[in-house]
Amino acid sequence: MYDIIVIGAGPAGMTAAIYARRAAKTVLVLEAVTFGGQIINTPDIENYPVEAHISGFDFSNKVYEQAKGLGAEFVFEKAVEIRPGDGFKTVVTPKNSYQGRAVILATGSENRKLGLEDEQRLTGKGVSYCATCDGNFYRNKVVAVVGGGNTALEDALYLADLAKQVYLIHRRDAFRGDDTNAARLKERENVEIVYNSNVTKLIAEKRLKAIEVTNKLDGSVRTIELNGLFVAVGRVPENQNFAEWVKLDEAGYVVAGEDCHTTAEGIFVAGDNRVKALRQLVTATADGAMAATEAVKYVNSL
Ligand code: NAP
Repeated sequence: MYDIIVIGAGPAGMTAAIYARRAAKTVLVLEAVTFGGQIINTPDIENYPVEAHISGFDFSNKVYEQAKGLGAEFVFEKAVEIRPGDGFKTVVTPKNSYQGRAVILATGSENRKLGLEDEQRLTGKGVSYCATCDGNFYRNKVVAVVGGGNTALEDALYLADLAKQVYLIHRRDAFRGDDTNAARLKERENVEIVYNSNVTKLIAEKRLKAIEVTNKLDGSVRTIELNGLFVAVGRVPENQNFAEWVKLDEAGYVVAGEDCHTTAEGIFVAGDNRVKALRQLVTATADGAMAATEAVKYVNSL
């Protein structure tokens, strides 16, 4: 029996583990893939206090070592279900089940897909959701990035250093991402921004070889020949496995205020999978601290 089971080893979950261990609680962190979460793929973090530049990979490693150093246990299994009991919860994975007095959901989110025919088949064959993971395969080649948030802007900047030509395709004429990133991108000679447009078709043989792009304003269709398409159109929360117990909003985010209490007793939420106005590294770690503090109070009250 653990005091606290944290589901998800991103910045929110690992910060929760640090806070819970500092409160002398036993902590199990369950993670489906690898520690770090979404931030592990960010090439350069410039907006987290203390270090002016740090890669997402280095950041994640440091937080992981910190949490482990404080005594948090990590198990790499996917939590697929929670079964509430009397004063404890059972968290079920495909291999095992674990009991904890409190649970913190820090499951983050997964890449949103474009929903195009063949998108899944072509993933890894020209379609990618991670520029920092796959960008190197496209040195001196032609690539496109879809999206208008900070991920798309930063991916396009990163790829502009590697690829011969980068198209950035956005469905509006204003970016959701920061003006600084947009301004940097506009200065790059090998970047063409295609505004008010959607990717409407993937053209492929074994691998992706072109995309069809449709202008939303005049309906015109353009074919762009390329080697790689990087999809960066946001993320969707990974809460469906727990929807039976905690209330989700219509977009699938866990309904909870700044105190990170869900609608279920003893279940807390931290990070990008919670309803919130700003999803950043700094707000994820803040949630981790808050959720752990509330979970510790709950465990002490039992
Ligand atoms: P995001 O901010 O939600 O942006 C998603 C973008 O994709 C939007 O521009 C959206 O268009 C577009 N989009 C959504 N669905 C689409 C579809 N089906 N087809 C075409 N376009 C679609 O997501 P994100 O860029 O992944 O960023 C997530 C969060 O992480 C944000 O808060 C972001 O600021 C943060 N982040 C921060 C950093 C950093 O601080 N260094 C780096 C990366 C991400 P519309 O604008 O028209 O809705």
